[in-house]
Amino acid sequence: MGMTLAEKVWADHLVRKGDNGAPDLLYIDLMLMHEVTSPQAFDGLRLAGRTPRHVDQLIATEDHNTPTVDIDRPNPDETSALQLTTLEKNCREFGVRLHPLGDADQGIVHAFAPVLGLTQPGMTIVCGDSHTSTHGAFGALAFGIGTSEVEHVMATQTLSLKPFKTMAINIDGDLPDGVTAKDIILAIIARIGTGGGQGYVLEYRGKAIEQLSMDARMTICNMSIEAGARAGMIAPDETTFAYLKGRPHAPQGELWDQAIEYWRTLKTDDDAVFDAEVTLDAADLEPFVTWGTNPGQGAPISASIPDPATIADATERTAAERAIAYMGLTPGQKIKDIPVDTVFIGSCTNGRIEDLRTAAAIMKGHRKADSIHRVLVVPASSRIRLQAEEEGLDRIFKDFGAEWRNAGCSMCLGMNPDKLVEHERSISTSNRNFEGRQGKGSRTHLASPAVAAATAIRGTISSPADL
Ligand code: SF4
Repeated sequence: MGMTLAEKVWADHLVRKGDNGAPDLLYIDLMLMHEVTSPQAFDGLRLAGRTPRHVDQLIATEDHNTPTVDIDRPNPDETSALQLTTLEKNCREFGVRLHPLGDADQGIVHAFAPVLGLTQPGMTIVCGDSHTSTHGAFGALAFGIGTSEVEHVMATQTLSLKPFKTMAINIDGDLPDGVTAKDIILAIIARIGTGGGQGYVLEYRGKAIEQLSMDARMTICNMSIEAGARAGMIAPDETTFAYLKGRPHAPQGELWDQAIEYWRTLKTDDDAVFDAEVTLDAADLEPFVTWGTNPGQGAPISASIPDPATIADATERTAAERAIAYMGLTPGQKIKDIPVDTVFIGSCTNGRIEDLRTAAAIMKGHRKADSIHRVLVVPASSRIRLQAEEEGLDRIFKDFGAEWRNAGCSMCLGMNPDKLVEHERSISTSNRNFEGRQGKGSRTHLASPAVAAATAIRGTISSPADL
């Protein structure tokens, strides 16, 4: 029987097959690290008197606790400052390459690595961070791990794991105008639920996926974890190869030719069987926005806030009632009538150059609505920031009335100075809308950069078609 893409990558990294249901031992090609989930791993290694097994396959950056303004000044938050200095000290002691705040290659852990060409097809990539699934856009098997596993990978460059199940997500047909990768993934999560992908590697396939750029593919794989999946993958193709060619860490010369030959084998065989399969018709999709407090509580932008009384499942009904109350909304209220206070364009989901270009193209020649308190535009990595400035996007954002920031996780989570205050409502291109995610009592609507930009112009949730 044929193999799926995920099974091929797994088989190519198998160090030892587990007997009688025991976990397999898998070789890990690359581990990415940041300041939040690495301290205990370094401590564990130090206590055990070990050194990293393959230090050149570890690479670290600073992202969660970094400020995005005044980066040359001391960090205003003591805890954040300690997290960052601890990472710097640990990386120095163990010889791990680090791109700290202020470095040209610093950025969100899932954004700086692809830009440098570190993320490549067929690799196994891990990080103590759930959105490691992003790297699956290149046909890598990439997933988040816990801190004890981070220590294990540092010490051995391997991981003990039971094979994941596989689920095909087919997006057939052509995407309608104005529908983006973010809308696809929000629609998928609304369909299968936040637990629908549990235990699976999702493989996104079909014409609509093949037509996407690498930045868009990363947006989709990034949010696989929001459907509960271990990882998301897309088979590498000419789009993938064109993106990688010439990047600093991509293979060069003869090694490039050899890599391409191998990468072309990384696709699901015609006779492979997935454990589960879901199909969506691209033509049915429209811009999607969340109304609730998990990424599965979303709806097309033309819809209204659901009435919990119409939800048959008791658990879902209670969750919807609670979410609507927390979000300060009313059943039946049109999504497009919801006024927003703050617009956040950034994060490892949608802070890439194409996202910034999309937002800038919509904002150009406009000013933000008077009712909008602030518009934050935060590139996902410093290289992306530099590229955006070369293209003059920063000037468009500033003319619009937006704040142009340094790279980092920023308002994706309330772990740095970029936070919402209680009851402040944002439209956000990030990936999580949990209670308090963007600050205590914050209210988050997830959407694409296009919808965020149009909302910044009109003041209420809008798509570019509404302008
Ligand atoms: S941008 Fe958000 S989701 Fe991505 S790594 Fe940072 S905190 Fe995590």
